[in-house]
Amino acid sequence: MKTKYSKPVSPEKFKGKGFDAMHAVVEIAKRSALYFKKEKKEKVEECLVCGSNFNDKILTAFEIEFVQCKNCTHVFQKNQFSDKSVYKFFETDKEINCHLPEDQFQYRCENINKPKIDEVMQLRVEMGCSNNDGQWLDIGCGAGDLLFQLNKDYHWNGVGIDISAPGIEMAKNNGINAILTDLFDYYSSTNNQDKITKSYDIISAMGYFDLVQEPTKHLKVVKRLLKDKGLLMLDHPKFDSFTGDLIKSVPECAGRYFNALERSIFTDKSMKYFLETNGFEVLFDWKYGLDIYTFISIITLKLPQLAKSNIVEYINSKNNEFQSIIDNSGYNDVNFCIAKLK
Ligand SMILES: [Zn+2]
Repeated sequence: MKTKYSKPVSPEKFKGKGFDAMHAVVEIAKRSALYFKKEKKEKVEECLVCGSNFNDKILTAFEIEFVQCKNCTHVFQKNQFSDKSVYKFFETDKEINCHLPEDQFQYRCENINKPKIDEVMQLRVEMGCSNNDGQWLDIGCGAGDLLFQLNKDYHWNGVGIDISAPGIEMAKNNGINAILTDLFDYYSSTNNQDKITKSYDIISAMGYFDLVQEPTKHLKVVKRLLKDKGLLMLDHPKFDSFTGDLIKSVPECAGRYFNALERSIFTDKSMKYFLETNGFEVLFDWKYGLDIYTFISIITLKLPQLAKSNIVEYINSKNNEFQSIIDNSGYNDVNFCIAKLK
């Protein structure tokens, strides 16, 4: 397995200047927690990843209780609302994964998506595959920014699916072949299932498996959709991180992590367990994050007078240097993996 550390970014170019966008994320998390508070929930006895029923309370954010599995270290919501509730929420929600000002969309395509696409394409070259053409499925495509970049750089056939109606509308406006559906309906929608079984060279699921109630069930469908040399590319918020520890101390500032829609939060260990016990081998692991940016964002939320101070400006200007120290020690808050079928 190859491990790579750090991915330089300019947070102000994809989040906007200052911390307004990050502070807004906390408000959105509060609103969605309030929305799901009235939905019916069921207590989850078994770990969503390994099935163990030994777990401990780890933190509560906006009255949502998270527990950690004692076996595989996976973190998940103790009381879960149904997928139906989530689908209903996304029929109309325009706040999550949808709106991006034009300049931020372009920045995201070039600086967030392009490096990921290039890594997976490079791996294919090393595996002896041609990148002249191919089939790509993006699950949870949102506004379609990943496939937008793919279409720009490669002559591939990309399809995006998502349960967010406003997201699919935006993806279509971005020229993406996007379908409003969930993974299971997408899989069974064809009359001849053999036609779509083993159809894809690459399936991407960015920030996906942490949002679904039964990640293993979703991964099994992904497995059926991938060609023999197919690759799964994913990223996920990482619990065993600087940001994870930060939110444990200030759960009232949760937003990017520990929000109502995040059914699970993977750790390094639980993601590897999840992939390996379901027939995948991790080929590539990239460690990076937004820990410093999240840290300063929370500090300025608590102490607004610091927002325009020299020290915040200084830390912002050195963001990539501070973040790389965290990334290199594996304390980063995002993991990006590429895995192949064993
Ligand atoms: Zn577990």
